Amino acid sequence: MALFPIRTFGDPVLNVAAARVDDISSALERLVDDMLETMYDAPGLGLAAPQIGVSKRIFVADIGEGPFTMINPEIVDLSDDEWPFEEGCLSVPGWYWSLDRPSYAAARGIGLDGNPVEYAGDELMGRVLQHEIDHLDGSLLLGRLPKRARKSALRDLRREALGFDVGTA
Ligand code: ZN
Repeated sequence: MALFPIRTFGDPVLNVAAARVDDISSALERLVDDMLETMYDAPGLGLAAPQIGVSKRIFVADIGEGPFTMINPEIVDLSDDEWPFEEGCLSVPGWYWSLDRPSYAAARGIGLDGNPVEYAGDELMGRVLQHEIDHLDGSLLLGRLPKRARKSALRDLRREALGFDVGTA
């Protein structure tokens, strides 16, 4: 197993839609092992393949109930009620933003054995499913923030990256 460096905000691989996985090889199984090791080492609740530079529709997650893997996952149900949560991302380390998203989500995909899998849940589970599948669509949580919050988040990130305040231009 191997640890991968986690790609961070600004890396273009995080902004492109990842490709569907057509066949499950032993190389893919090794990749998933490495993703799990990288996720636990970080530590994080989930990790999508683009976050280690692999633009494929795979994520791993563990919200404390054991690890699971989804390949080619798709959201199949979202609740109408929203749940506020201080959401973070291993690709934007150290930052958390309060973000409302549907509390419940269900996702369907395939597992490492090639069989269909479905994961669903409220609150943290629903959040992880939405967050990780967003990564596979090339979208970071910043893009989900309301406009004003997004502007201020981007300003904070620029300031951090450059080490000084560049204003709002
Ligand atoms: Zn993330």
